[in-house]
Amino acid sequence: MIKFSGKSVYKGIAVGPVAVLKNNDFQVKRAKAEDVEAEIARVEEAVEKSQEQLGQLYDKAVKEVGEASAAIFEVHQMMLEDDDYRDSICNMIRTEQVNAEYAVAVTGDNFSEIFAGMDDDYMKARAADIKDISNRLVRCLSGQENMDFETMEPSVIIAEDLSPSETVQMDKKKILAFVTVHGSTNSHTAILARMMNIPALIGVPMDLDEIHNGQTVIVDGLKSEVIFDPTEEERCEAEVKIQNEKEKLELLQTLKGKENVTLSGRKIHIYANIGSVSDVGYVLENDAGGIGLFRSEFLYLGKDDFPTEEEQFQAYKQVAQMIAGKKVIIRTLDIGADKQADYFNLGKEENPAMGYRAIRICLKQTDIFKAQLRALMRAAAFGNISVMYPMITSTEEVLQIFEIVKEAQKELDAMQVPYKVPEQGIMIETPAAVMISDELAELVDFFSIGTNDLTQYTLAIDRQNERLDDFYNPHHKAILKMIRMVTENAHKCGKWAGICGELGADLELTEEFLKMGLDELSVSPSMVLKVRKAVRESRVGVN
Ligand code: PEP
Ligand code: MG
Repeated sequence: MIKFSGKSVYKGIAVGPVAVLKNNDFQVKRAKAEDVEAEIARVEEAVEKSQEQLGQLYDKAVKEVGEASAAIFEVHQMMLEDDDYRDSICNMIRTEQVNAEYAVAVTGDNFSEIFAGMDDDYMKARAADIKDISNRLVRCLSGQENMDFETMEPSVIIAEDLSPSETVQMDKKKILAFVTVHGSTNSHTAILARMMNIPALIGVPMDLDEIHNGQTVIVDGLKSEVIFDPTEEERCEAEVKIQNEKEKLELLQTLKGKENVTLSGRKIHIYANIGSVSDVGYVLENDAGGIGLFRSEFLYLGKDDFPTEEEQFQAYKQVAQMIAGKKVIIRTLDIGADKQADYFNLGKEENPAMGYRAIRICLKQTDIFKAQLRALMRAAAFGNISVMYPMITSTEEVLQIFEIVKEAQKELDAMQVPYKVPEQGIMIETPAAVMISDELAELVDFFSIGTNDLTQYTLAIDRQNERLDDFYNPHHKAILKMIRMVTENAHKCGKWAGICGELGADLELTEEFLKMGLDELSVSPSMVLKVRKAVRESRVGVN
């Protein structure tokens, strides 16, 4: 038995077999090749293996998303056969006498840079594809295969770290828990774990080389512990805890269908946060009153190219229809910082959280933004959709957004398709937006306070930096004062205000939020009934 402690991001318990996810961030090392012809033969073998994988991916994608979207895998197959690319790799191995992994990685970077520098948008977008095929080749060369979720039994995923794009690609039915060596409690991967109801521990000082697939492990999010090869006694203890948790959850089920009302009669909306169409199941299961934050950028992650307007329209429409008339607040693209997709070619930034991200990309690359707005407005004709914009810092940005919305409307008019201009709100997640919330309230229909970023920007604490977890204090007086101020400014203009950051689910603050007069709390689906319980037990306003 080996025990480690970590930081818990979702307080559940799981027991099951380990599946180790090897580091996908390849640190390719340069090594001298003793036998260059053998290295070249390894490249040929890796190309063959990659072709096979791409063929399988193509077949799977055709079935799941149709031929048009699957075509990218055929493009990758063609690129792998490109003579210039292959000759360049072999040349490098011969002339510099280096290992195959290094030659592939360097050639991939060189080609990708050449494509990124081209004027033609189509060719520019191929830069990410070159990176992708080179990564695949390196993975095949170094035996770091991707996890095969098709054949894998439900397992506890053990990894150095997980990016949001890796996490969204996983088959949630096959994941019992996550345990990672790195990661911060405020990262999007942690948020995803909470959204999926999956016990998760981060910052666990394990040595991945000492852990093997199939080993039994207990992940105890309540004690922030992970136990490899547990004793029979520990296993039994964990089973009892799992049963207790199940019973607690069953008790919460009695709150389904009940109102979110305090003992004094004050009501509040409790909505849920989602990242994909499939999460709507959790929303319904937990009886949320609506969706307060659909992180639309997750539709863009884990892909090789931008989702088309049609793909987005179908996703938004499906969510609106599945939730049958309840409110769905869709946040426009909030890509950047820890949410990266190679095809955006955002480049490396010193300070990505304060960089070219979210609404800034949308205001500069209006084609991307307009495609999303058209999809949203078309979907709004099929349900109760609202739209909100992230990372706002000024009234000028909001006015600029409205101009772009108008252009998108004109385009839809020309296309003669049905659409509706939805209610439009903004996220309040920068101190600037808080300070001018009186002016912003006059322009928009509602505010949703993003406490995750608001805490990061107010306290000057990078939410991704695991060393700062102890300093990241969303209970800081400054944050609570800001929430109160924003709520008051919204109400003065007859607008509503809610919280969609993780703080909304903090049961220690539910009473405080009710006192402040917040109109809505949007929390991960697993927290909806717990917050409802806290609201129903609250004595706010009782004399
Ligand atoms: C927030 O910043 O609080 C928020 C809800 O958005 P995200 O966590 O996706 O940045
Ligand atoms: Mg945010």
